[in-house]
Amino acid sequence: MSRFLQALSVEEAVAAAVRIAPSPVPEEIAADEAPGRVLCGDVIAADDIPGFDRTVVDGYAVRAEDTAAATESAPALLRCTGRTAMGETGSTLPVTPGTCVYVPTGGVLPEGATAAVMVEYTEISGDTVLVKRPVAFGENVLRHDEDYQRGAVVLPAGRRLSPQDTGVLAACGRTTVTVAKKPLVGILSTGNELVPVSATPRPGQVRDANAPMIAAYLREYGCIPKIYGIVQDEKTSFEAALSKALPECDVVLVSGGSSKDDRDMTAGIIAGRGEVLVHGIALAPGKPTIIGKIGTTPVFGLPGHPASAYVVLLVVVRPLLARMLGESRSSLVTARITLGTSIPSQKGREEYVRVRLEDGVAYPIFGKSGLLNTLVQGDGLIRIPAHCEGLEEGSTVEVVLW
Ligand code: AMP
Ligand code: MG
Repeated sequence: MSRFLQALSVEEAVAAAVRIAPSPVPEEIAADEAPGRVLCGDVIAADDIPGFDRTVVDGYAVRAEDTAAATESAPALLRCTGRTAMGETGSTLPVTPGTCVYVPTGGVLPEGATAAVMVEYTEISGDTVLVKRPVAFGENVLRHDEDYQRGAVVLPAGRRLSPQDTGVLAACGRTTVTVAKKPLVGILSTGNELVPVSATPRPGQVRDANAPMIAAYLREYGCIPKIYGIVQDEKTSFEAALSKALPECDVVLVSGGSSKDDRDMTAGIIAGRGEVLVHGIALAPGKPTIIGKIGTTPVFGLPGHPASAYVVLLVVVRPLLARMLGESRSSLVTARITLGTSIPSQKGREEYVRVRLEDGVAYPIFGKSGLLNTLVQGDGLIRIPAHCEGLEEGSTVEVVLW
């Protein structure tokens, strides 16, 4: 394809995309809406957590040295002076030499105590507790600032929040949290052959599979997709749809018509209104990709083949969205897996091959580029770097899991 002699490396193309990414826009949301969102700014502990010394077992708060010589046959004898109730600071006496206080798991460690003995290692005889094992200083105790010290970074900026994080936010007393606003991403499908999903295609027509697929991907990644429908390969309707999308969206993705044929209009239309920064990437599938901008809005031209569009979304568009969200590290899930069959690859372009996993071994799924079925048969994609002439059976490869 001499028309793409200028294909840029994936690395350079991604760098070009990331450079035009608008900055994250902070917004405050309820903490229970936080999972999946990306933090803008660190979450700092306002107080020590847990805030008081507490035990982590049901048992007796003791002075560790009082149990030093305790054994099964010669237990330490400690006088129990009281019990601590949960949620109270304890009206009990301080633990003095030779005494102990019963404390349930998570209860306040009384003054003077330095450790807790599990109830399983004790026996009661009247008000005397027989301790059958020694405990070390600090054993079975959480210090008042052991989880988080006041002023410590509890969750760092750029983190994609998990359900567990919500628990930590709650423990820190946070009912709201500042995250990056979800980018609004417009999707335009181009092609005279395309019909809406609900239509029955006549011979020569195909349903618009890309718009729903791209929208689903974006939604899962934490963006708000907006579908602008199908436009013909014809300047007026394309221009009209773009004019509608541009002022509303943070990013616009145009599917189809991204190659360099005369009937491919995307590059020309972007160039007419703004700038084409990249046209053609050394990526397979996904070579006919356009990165451009109109005003300050990034506009991508994605290849029409759904499998190609998906790879470009993952490899090129996602890094730009990651920057818009301020994500500090990739949230792609990858695994190092043994390859079950050798895969040939053309040097000079980065290649993504769909694979299925079986008993911890990755097997490539080969198929013609226009087929949809390979998209759903696989468990993920293998990345074959541009400098590689293929991957050997038995080698360890990186699989991007989906
Ligand atoms: P194009 O990139 O416009 O040259 O299209 C390449 C191939 O992808 C053609 O076979 C198109 O029919 C197909 N295609 C383009 N857009 C879509 C779409 N939105 N959904 C499904 N297939 C498409
Ligand atoms: Mg087309």
